[in-house]
Formats: sequence, structure tokens, C-alpha cells
Amino acid sequence: MHETTDVVVVGAGLAGLSAALHLTGAGRRVTVLERAPEPGGRVADRLFGEDGRGYRIDTGASVFTMPDLLDEAFAAVGSSVGEWLTLTRLDPAYHAHFADGSTVTVHTDAAAMEAEIRAVAGPADAAGYVALRRWLRELYDVQRDRFIGSNFDSVLDLVGPELVRLLALGGFGRLGARVARFVTDERLRRLFTFQSLYAGLDPMRALAAYGVIAYMDTVAGVYYPTGGMGQVARAMTAALRAAGATVRLSTAAERLDRDADGRVRAVWTEAGDRIACESVVLATELSTSYALLGRTPRRLLRRRYAPSAVVLYGHSAHGGRDLGHHTLSFGDAWHETFSEIIDQGRLMSDPSLLVTRPTATDPSLAPPGEDVVTVLAPAPNLHVAPIDWPRVTGAYRDELLRTLDARGFTVAGDLVVEAVATPHTWAADGLGAGTPFSLAHSLVQTGPFRPANRVRGADNVVLAGCGTTPGVGIPPVLVSGRLAAERVLAAGGRRRSTLGSTV
Ligand SMILES: Cc1cc2nc3c(=O)[nH]c(=O)nc-3n(C[C@H](O)[C@H](O)[C@H](O)COP(=O)(O)OP(=O)(O)OC[C@H]3O[C@@H](n4cnc5c(N)ncnc54)[C@H](O)[C@@H]3O)c2cc1C
Repeated sequence: MHETTDVVVVGAGLAGLSAALHLTGAGRRVTVLERAPEPGGRVADRLFGEDGRGYRIDTGASVFTMPDLLDEAFAAVGSSVGEWLTLTRLDPAYHAHFADGSTVTVHTDAAAMEAEIRAVAGPADAAGYVALRRWLRELYDVQRDRFIGSNFDSVLDLVGPELVRLLALGGFGRLGARVARFVTDERLRRLFTFQSLYAGLDPMRALAAYGVIAYMDTVAGVYYPTGGMGQVARAMTAALRAAGATVRLSTAAERLDRDADGRVRAVWTEAGDRIACESVVLATELSTSYALLGRTPRRLLRRRYAPSAVVLYGHSAHGGRDLGHHTLSFGDAWHETFSEIIDQGRLMSDPSLLVTRPTATDPSLAPPGEDVVTVLAPAPNLHVAPIDWPRVTGAYRDELLRTLDARGFTVAGDLVVEAVATPHTWAADGLGAGTPFSLAHSLVQTGPFRPANRVRGADNVVLAGCGTTPGVGIPPVLVSGRLAAERVLAAGGRRRSTLGSTV
């Protein structure tokens, strides 16, 4: 079959869907190709269970922040999040359990969190929190438009008043040290720095600028979409189709037709369809995008990947009731934990875990009275620890359940683990170094030093997704989709498509 469109977007993860919405809204005819039967990529869910006793379990991201960025994508086609999704703001955002048996509840409401900190750590840290919150907000404000939300072609593009403000805010210092200036309680220091792990970094080494991630979940708030995390991509897909775009699921892109000048003229699907186009957005894992382009930049081979994760996907008939939506279970070890998974290539000896029970917010995900529960354990990626995962997975699953049991989580006693994802699973899915968290956000892999979204020698191809700018996580990939769309539109000038041709 031969088709013609303006832009082919390869990959219906949130980056690809965001790019497609922005391009469709700008009048381009867009065809999205997704190899999986469902959209969403790393923000998805899967139905487990038999005989209609379904358990809808999130397979990737579970902490959804910054819905305004999603709204921006819907707004591009004249719609809004509210038209397609029901989002619930989680309060509290997290429950945190510590090795000494104490707990801290993380509220995003300023007064509630100040009161919580006053109760658990005293008035000095409560005052410190107020200042910390202000600093986190300033960090976000100064980075939002220039450093996170804009395309740039050189380091020099970043030089300006925002850079001076970021320097003045201490953004180029270390996150751990900076947060320690505001609060003295070790538990609070963890709660406002652990997010750097999402960026693949030890908080003691991460740039203080990465406080923006703590801003997103502890200040701006954590949300959950009714029906499971997969609803986000299903909603984006529905909005795209309503706006006239084509989204083809179970359709993998196999290769590109290139001109002598390097421009891509068409995308071929595995099924043998040829889709002629003006531009292409490759919104897949970087290695897949480069493979489609027929190249592997040598620099990519030397890149440092973030740590990976082992995830238990389960359900519980009785034991989940005492769990909130997101529970952080910290081990006693902290700095050692980062050293083990990032540098030493060892499993955590005293694990810190994220236990998620979305049925606390949306009971419809499980049969009445039951719960779905996932346990996420950070783990070394396959580059630093080529562990034989198929051999050790069962034993590690049991060890994680024993750890939860010993910490008093009753869910460990009756959790039916339906599946376990390990670095081996992520690698089998084509993810570099067996990590779903892409390239670590070290200074040399951030901003202008991260793989660019432009492709040298193929000027009608743009990259999107967590491997390129701005980076990993739902908010950055939604932005990366918009940035990719802006590149395509800038290259196409003010052209507006009409059916069959681009004028
Ligand atoms: C277990 C886990 C927990 C996470 N937790 C969080 C969290 O709590 N909060 C958060 O913000 N982020 C979290 N993340 C990270 C976040 O999910 C990702 O950074 C983000 O979703 C990546 O989006 P993407 O669009 O770049 O890539 P993807 O979601 O991987 O999308 C790429 C898409 O391309 C498709 N594709 C690949 N090859 C082809 C081809 N040849 N043809 C067509 N399609 C193709 C894939 O099937 C996929 O759908 C988590 C991720 C995982 C896996």
C-alpha cells in the first residue's frame, strides 16, 4: 500500500503523541506509527487476570506530574485534558517510611506540609521547608522556558539573564548539599533529593538544578488518571484521531527511503506499506531511531546510561489496605545505595523501594475489594552489572517481598506477582543498557550536551523522546514532542498543508 502524508511520527510514546498533537494543531497531516497494539510506550498499563477478574496494572511510569504540559498538547488541537481524561490530584503525594519505623507524609499543599514538618522535625525545619519550597519554585521558573522548554543549537544559546539567575540560585552546585542548607532532618533531605535518581544521578553528585524534579512532585503535585496510566496515551490518541490524524497501532516502521541529499522521502512499515512524507519525527529509543537512520554515532556507544529498575506487578486480596497510593520505603543505607547501583554494579543491599497501590485512588482497576500493587526497586543497568537476570529474578522477587514483610508491609504476605520486569526485560524491548530511564543526566549529557533533536545530514528528520532534549520522564518527553514539532514547522516555514499536497 502506498500513502502520502505530511509528517510521519514513529513511536506513540508520550513524546511521539505530543509531537503529533502539536503538528496536527499546526495544520500538518500526520500519520503516527506504533509497533505495539496499544499506544503509550513507557506510560502504559496491561490487563492481568482471568475469568473477567481483571487487574489493570501500570507497567511503566506511575508518578504523573505537570499535567499542564499535557494540556498544552491537547490545546494544540483545540481541546483540553478535561475533555478526555479524569485526573485526580493525590493528597498526600507520597507516604514515606523510614528504617527507624518513623513516617513522613508528603503533602503538596504548602500549609499542610509545613505542619507535617513541624510535627516530625520541629519548627526550624518547618521554616527551612518554606524557604526550600520557594527555592524549588524559583529553580523551576528560571529553567522552564529557556533550559527545558526551548530548542537550542549551541551552548551559547543558553547564555543570558536566566543563566545568571540559575547561577545565583546555586543551580550549578550539588543538589544534596544545597537541600541540606534548608533542612537538617536526614529524612527530609532524602524526600527532597531522591528524585535525582529519576535522572540517573546520586543526589550528592547531581546538579542542584535538578531540584526541578522535586519541584514537580513535592510542590506542583502528583496526579492519577482514572482507568490507569495507559489512559493518558489512549486519550492523546483519541484526540489526535478526532483532529484528523492517523494513528496506526501494531505497525512498526522498518526503514526509511532517503534521497541522495539525505532527506527522508518515505517510511516503510514492516508490513510493506510505503508512506511518503515531507518530514519524519523519530520518537523511539535513540538506538532505534539511529538504526532506522542507518547509523550508530560513536558517541552514543560511550554514553552513560541511568540505573535501571526491577518492577513487581501484582495484586492483593487483603494486604494492601494500609498502603496509600505511593509509598516510599527507605532502607537505612542511603549514600551506599546510590554507590551500589550506579558505580559498583550491585543490587541494593538495603533496598529503598517505591510501592504503588493505585486502587487507593481508583478502585475500578481491580475486582471489588482487591488491590493492584507494584513494587519498583532501582537496580544497576546492564552496562555496569551484566547480571544473568532470567536466572536470578525469582530469588530477587522473593528477597524484595521478604524485605517488605520485615518492614511491616502486610501486602507482602498475599501479593500475587503476575510478572516481573528486570533490566533483561527492558533490554529485550530495545532499551539501551537495559534501563527504561535512558541516558543519565550528568552535566555532559544534559542540555546542549545531550544528543540533539536535529540529525546531521538528514534535515527533514527530527528526534523526540527521553534520549534527546530535554530528557527523561513524562514532563520532559511531552516537551520534547513540542520541541520536535517546532523544528518541523520551522523547517517548513509557514506552509500549511492541504490534502494531498503541502503548499
Ligand atoms: C518502570 C518505569 C517507571 C517510570 N516511572 C516514571 C514516573 O513515575 N514518572 C515519570 O515521569 N516517568 C517515569 N518513567 C519514565 C517515563 O515513562 C519515560 O521517560 C517516558 O515515558 C519515555 O517516553 P518516550 O516517548 O520517550 O519513549 P517510549 O514511551 O518508549 O515511546 C517510544 C515508542 O516507540 C515505539 N517504537 C519503538 N520502535 C518502533 C518502530 N520501529 N516503529 C514504531 N514504533 C516503535 C515503542 O513501542 C514505544 O511505544 C518510568 C519508566 C518506567 C519504564
